[in-house]
Amino acid sequence: MITAMGAQTIPAPGPAPAGAGPLDQPVQFMAGVGPRRTEAFAKLGVATRADLLHYYPRAYIQFQGQVPVAQLRGGENVTVRGRIIETRRIRRRPVRFEAWLEEDSGRCALVWFNRLDLDDKIVPGVSLCATGMVRIYNRLPQMVQPRFELLDSPVATPAADRGPADRWATAHLESVYPATVELPSAAIARIIRENLAEMRGHVPEWFPANFLAERNLLGRSQALQQIHQPTDQTAIAQARRTLAYHEVFLYQLAVGIKRHHQKNLVTARPLRTDEAVDRRIRALFEFQLTAGQNHVVAQLRRDLARPRPMNRLLQGDVGSGKTVVALYAMLMAVAASAQAALLAPTTVLAEQHFLTLQRYLARSRVRLGLLTSGVTAAQRQQTLAALAGGTLDILVGTHALLREDLRFKDLALLVVDEQHKFGVRQRAVIRDRYAGVHTLVMTATPIPRTLAMTLFGDLDISSIEELPPGRTPILTRVVPLAQRDKVYAFIRGQLQAGRQAFVVAPSIEENARELQNVAQLQRQLQHGVLRNFHIGLLHGRMDSAQRHRVMEDFRQRNIDVLVCTTVIEVGVDVPNATLMIVEHADRFGLAQLHQLRGRIGRGRQRSLCVFLSDAAGVKTQMPAAGAGQVAEEYDSTRRAAARLAALEKYSSGFKIAEEDLKLRGMGELVGTRQSGHPDFHFPEFLFDGVLLPLTRRDALAVVAADPHLIAPCHQNIRANLLRQYGDAITLADVG
Ligand code: ADP
Ligand code: MG
Repeated sequence: MITAMGAQTIPAPGPAPAGAGPLDQPVQFMAGVGPRRTEAFAKLGVATRADLLHYYPRAYIQFQGQVPVAQLRGGENVTVRGRIIETRRIRRRPVRFEAWLEEDSGRCALVWFNRLDLDDKIVPGVSLCATGMVRIYNRLPQMVQPRFELLDSPVATPAADRGPADRWATAHLESVYPATVELPSAAIARIIRENLAEMRGHVPEWFPANFLAERNLLGRSQALQQIHQPTDQTAIAQARRTLAYHEVFLYQLAVGIKRHHQKNLVTARPLRTDEAVDRRIRALFEFQLTAGQNHVVAQLRRDLARPRPMNRLLQGDVGSGKTVVALYAMLMAVAASAQAALLAPTTVLAEQHFLTLQRYLARSRVRLGLLTSGVTAAQRQQTLAALAGGTLDILVGTHALLREDLRFKDLALLVVDEQHKFGVRQRAVIRDRYAGVHTLVMTATPIPRTLAMTLFGDLDISSIEELPPGRTPILTRVVPLAQRDKVYAFIRGQLQAGRQAFVVAPSIEENARELQNVAQLQRQLQHGVLRNFHIGLLHGRMDSAQRHRVMEDFRQRNIDVLVCTTVIEVGVDVPNATLMIVEHADRFGLAQLHQLRGRIGRGRQRSLCVFLSDAAGVKTQMPAAGAGQVAEEYDSTRRAAARLAALEKYSSGFKIAEEDLKLRGMGELVGTRQSGHPDFHFPEFLFDGVLLPLTRRDALAVVAADPHLIAPCHQNIRANLLRQYGDAITLADVG
């Protein structure tokens, strides 16, 4: 019934795929790069010339060129040229060196902090050209820490201080690269400047000129020129759009090819249900499915009835009822005398799913098993035997399920929970190991549909957007740490009224001193403000038996307050727990906080979620233009504040996911990086309702016309595809 994916034996045409071209050479031997810089580049993830070519600026600074002193305005980056008339060494803190520069139209102060050494180079009488940001201080123009070049001076300007005088003297955009202390942005910019033309000579184009013109895109080579050395803002925008198109196209092509072969080569066992089976399954739930759930059930029934493997993504907020729907599908497999498996990313989650399913199945004869690293060797052997013998119907487990020695008698459906926690490579393993098995992937981190179609282009998508009835909305408040005592006093009152609470602290792995250690927090609460209550402790370093006991105690209300790390992120369902306090909430990601919050609001009582954070109340708009460390730190606090504000404002996971992606900014799409998705460099296009569908349409057109990428016109694309996604899509898929 189930055929493995047939290996393709079509000969590989075209150039050797990877590791061969000039761009695959290490950066080490490029102009301006030696062993030390090679090491510094490695820390930035840049090993080859291709890496450097795709190491894009994170910002650009507009330099206005040379400006008469009389016309200086605060906030602009300019160059001034004149004669030094006076200098001062100031030893009082902040230690600094000051110089007055004069030219025909006026005077300007130059200030360098911690640079008393400059006094033997910058002396009264020398001519000098200085570049930096102007600020107005006591109504006089001033430049702090400018770059400079001595003109007609017998003393050479130290290289680290210098910017070529003619370059700064003309207006231009200066690229700012993500940098380190050893390898500052200016050094990266210089290296790229000196090597760009040569590197671009090796960049193959993927598409013919008319194809690009129709889509208003540039060629790759030109886009790379413009992203590194733009002439103006329009050039930057064009370059970003072009490069975004290329990288998203390539990803769509990879998943499209994978999917094409799956659809055409792999068969699966059709699972059909009649009315009687449908009724029997529904009878297990003590509630009616919501309209949203019924809609998804109908989609699943259609998919599963086909002789091709289902590949569906089910998105929905925590608590929206996904597990119930997944159970429906698993029972369809069982009704057909086949088996189903549920794969969870962590042991805790697997155990919770197991308990949940056990409760739903208590009145049925369905045989359920659990397989995690936590079960004993004897139990494991027994489970494996039951699986192979067909005396187990549904298996719940962790990636222990992916192990080679696992044999199902007749696996028909695989449900994968929290898909985003499995990387692309692991997904490829799952896919290959279980080709021919229907798969349903569930995620509680929903993302906008066009983006989901991009990231999960190989999956059909279902969404549950409403929550089951009877939920009361959660009230969310961000509160400054200074008001912590008040919050706990309020909680005390609620506990007295019979409610239960979660207190979440950043994980014990991050043992930094200022972080709340959960155990310490538990003691502190137990002996302090909450001394009359039972305070439990739960974290990932406890073994599963201990954790079980604690969770069960919490469920049975023997514990009033559960102090925990994010191990409760998913799965816990205690309707009487209506309060949540998250300590140092700014340390968590937006999606994670939303998931955490989903643990409350499950009963009929109104729930309250408090995020304690120093970022509370920080203004969320951008600071005035200003580069450097201060601005970046300010920026991270500002972003934390914006994340928390989004949680106060929105309750839908779909909306929150969108905010999250917007807030992460250029080159920082951490969520997708961690999840093993490719690094999309241009997150602004992940919401682009024009560009995303365009890449998808174009990629699918290529798949339809030339699924093995054999045509000569596809060779450059093919080489790049194998270079970037080779191990995920395998040669069997691409000729
Ligand atoms: P998810 O997997 O999306 O987090 P679950 O399937 O675990 O959601 O459902 C969350 C809770 O809501 C569970 O307690 C479940 O029993 C309950 N539930 C699910 N569907 C319904 C429904 N249609 N009506 C009432 N309660 C429901
Ligand atoms: Mg769930």
